[in-house]
Amino acid sequence: MTHTRALDRITDKSEPSHIVILGAGFGGVYTYTSLPRWVKKQYRITVIDRRNHFLFTPLLPEVAGASLDQHSIVEPIRDIINRDVTFIQSTVISVDTNTNTIVLPDTIITYDILVAGLGSKTHFFGTPGAEEHAYILKTLDDAVHLRNRFIDTFETASQTTDPVERKKLLSFVIVGAGPTGVELAGEVSELLFDTFVHQFGSLDIDDVTLTLVNSGDDVLSMFDLPLRQYATRALTRGRVVLRNNVRVTEVTPFGVVTDTGEEISAQTVVWTAGVTANSLTCSCGTFTVDRGRILTDRYLRAESIENVFVIGDMALFPTEDNRGLPMTAQVAKQQGQTTGKNISRLLKGQPLYPFVYHEKGLLASLGSFDAVAQMKGFRFKGVFAWFMWRTIYLFNFASWKKRFKIMADWTVNLFARRDTTRL
Ligand SMILES: Cc1cc2nc3c(=O)[nH]c(=O)nc-3n(C[C@H](O)[C@H](O)[C@H](O)COP(=O)(O)OP(=O)(O)OC[C@H]3O[C@@H](n4cnc5c(N)ncnc54)[C@H](O)[C@@H]3O)c2cc1C
Repeated sequence: MTHTRALDRITDKSEPSHIVILGAGFGGVYTYTSLPRWVKKQYRITVIDRRNHFLFTPLLPEVAGASLDQHSIVEPIRDIINRDVTFIQSTVISVDTNTNTIVLPDTIITYDILVAGLGSKTHFFGTPGAEEHAYILKTLDDAVHLRNRFIDTFETASQTTDPVERKKLLSFVIVGAGPTGVELAGEVSELLFDTFVHQFGSLDIDDVTLTLVNSGDDVLSMFDLPLRQYATRALTRGRVVLRNNVRVTEVTPFGVVTDTGEEISAQTVVWTAGVTANSLTCSCGTFTVDRGRILTDRYLRAESIENVFVIGDMALFPTEDNRGLPMTAQVAKQQGQTTGKNISRLLKGQPLYPFVYHEKGLLASLGSFDAVAQMKGFRFKGVFAWFMWRTIYLFNFASWKKRFKIMADWTVNLFARRDTTRL
């Protein structure tokens, strides 16, 4: 069946169309929640994701830094969708837009309308050794793995009598000073220099080093200069060693090698430089792919394919500067909301709404009680920005249950040290 025949089926009311949403991340979930009730009642809807939860990625650094419990930042997909909607926990292998089929490991599914929101994956820019030796922060498993790594390293160091070996163990490098790298550095610096140093009486704080390596001139390059300078001062105060204008050319089991040939020793390297990666997570039939992302029209439909919407990190939306929109949750959420409304318009045979992105502002946490925020021409920093950051994230989270859980975790953090239980 070609996609134009699928479109005929959609407008032919005798057979209910099958709407399939690939990915229950920001794009997929907001597509689903923005579908009008009558669409959810009258049409067959299937959601497919390899995980059974929605992950609130902006709070991943807090899980890695042991200030939030991992269950607090995920929501079961079955709590989000209606019970009569089909959810399939499976991995999408490929999509064929000529036959309107999706290939899963053990079955093939046919769709009439498809929404592809499978996100992105970490990009290492071909840096030798990075994929093998660096830790990443993209999924909940990554965050838990990283937190465990920090704990294990300190436990091992506390039993190491050789001072040189101990120092090596306690050296950490984060590569990339975009929002993820900076937020992680803020969180980890408190975990290392506050919680661990307090818990491990035998270890000397001067043996611990946390280096943030950044290929640009400044951290948080998308923020205005005064906020970048503020973030730099805050990180430095938190004992983070900032290395700007340094490009990592290799990651080894013993640290990173830079473009000047310098070796920065570290037993733990975290790669956040490529979280806005451009590679796709599935092979995608006949889509037009540019810089790893699927080219869309102004209505978020894959170019020349009228029954397939592509949203979020996967989509290369046409912009004046030809760079596409940033790969952020804000963009994915708004694209999901527009797509939900446009599916109902497509089903009614009405013209679609073009997608218009409204930038809501930029926020980055620098650890407890400190953050920077930039909104509608205003700049905020320090405790006020931190409260703003927390409130906005809290109200963007899916359910009240999880909002209360996060609020409870944050309240406990005001009075107690981070939970360093090894899981
Ligand atoms: C650590 C971190 C911090 C971030 N902080 C912020 C922030 O503060 N603000 C902000 O705006 N953005 C932030 N982002 C970016 C934001 O998370 C993404 O831009 C956003 O999640 C993109 O939404 P999406 O729907 O395209 O993809 P995702 O939300 O990643 O969802 C994709 C879904 O597809 C599923 N999937 C992927 N491949 C397959 C497959 N083959 N088969 C089945 N299912 C599959 C995944 O399991 C996932 O559920 C952050 C990202 C990270 C990693």
